Amino acid sequence: MERFDCAIIGSGPAGLSAAINLHQRGKTACVLGAAPGFLSKAEQVDNYLGLPGVTGSGMIDQFLSHAKEMGIVPLEGRAANILPAGDYFMINFNGEIMESKTVILACGIARAKPIPGEAELLGRGVSYCATCDGMLYRGKKILVWGLSPEAAHEANFLASIGCSVTFVAAKQPPELKEEIRFIPGTVKAVGGEPVVKWAQIGAVQEEFEGVFILRSAIAPDTLLPGLALENGSIVVNRSMETNIPGVYAAGDVTGAPLQVAKAVSEGLIAALSVADYLDRK
Ligand SMILES: Cc1cc2nc3c(=O)[nH]c(=O)nc-3n(C[C@H](O)[C@H](O)[C@H](O)COP(=O)(O)OP(=O)(O)OC[C@H]3O[C@@H](n4cnc5c(N)ncnc54)[C@H](O)[C@@H]3O)c2cc1C
Repeated sequence: MERFDCAIIGSGPAGLSAAINLHQRGKTACVLGAAPGFLSKAEQVDNYLGLPGVTGSGMIDQFLSHAKEMGIVPLEGRAANILPAGDYFMINFNGEIMESKTVILACGIARAKPIPGEAELLGRGVSYCATCDGMLYRGKKILVWGLSPEAAHEANFLASIGCSVTFVAAKQPPELKEEIRFIPGTVKAVGGEPVVKWAQIGAVQEEFEGVFILRSAIAPDTLLPGLALENGSIVVNRSMETNIPGVYAAGDVTGAPLQVAKAVSEGLIAALSVADYLDRK
């Protein structure tokens, strides 16, 4: 298995800026991104130097084609968690393990509010990662709330290992296995004591033994436990180093101002810091 010099989580302005700068320093990087980022929602961006009046999606297209010209093609999907493994990291990406010597977290901000009961029952029946926790729920009745494009794939995996799966989403994904029960809607709450016993789908409460909430964005300290945060943003120094050696962060994930220019410059600094770190090692 290839061990990359750096795994970049997020293919927005911060992640792509980090990627092209690592490339220029001769380092190997994989860009792992759940599309589309928040920039695509901007009708017009007027404050980025040299590109006045561009739409958000036009801007991200330009960033992507610049990266592609250098041979950098982001892999689409969701990083579910990152595990330090001595002098490298293992990243669970779409259920596959990838290895990297360093990590740059450029995953923007997780805007979703947790539903009632979610935070309290996390690790006690609530999970964000099917491939990490699925085996604990073999033979059990579980609910998967699919909010990311890869969620059906993860639900299929849970069904394949013997979970009895109910899948809730706005629309039924075509790839969802036939044996999986589908309910259109949203999950409003999860409850139980001391572990998950029920979930509320729309107005209806039903018994479940596990609830997988699969959003594209995951809170940074859930992605990488032990990461220091302040008011929900990753704490970094001027070199974009986090409190975990070998882990850097850039862009909205480090806090205000939430702006493209700041994301791009932090991506650059994180890449240079990673290159120095690798060269020193
Ligand atoms: C409506 C709107 C208008 C805006 N207007 C402006 C403007 O005019 N000027 C300006 O400067 N800024 C503007 N912004 C802000 C700008 O979009 C952000 O500051 C910028 O996109 C931040 O870049 P980023 O790379 O840090 O994060 P993002 O652009 O959010 O990119 C992060 C990427 O990481 C992905 N990701 C997250 N978690 C994971 C995971 N676990 N695995 C894999 N991928 C993951 C996300 O899906 C996303 O693609 C606007 C934002 C919005 C929403």
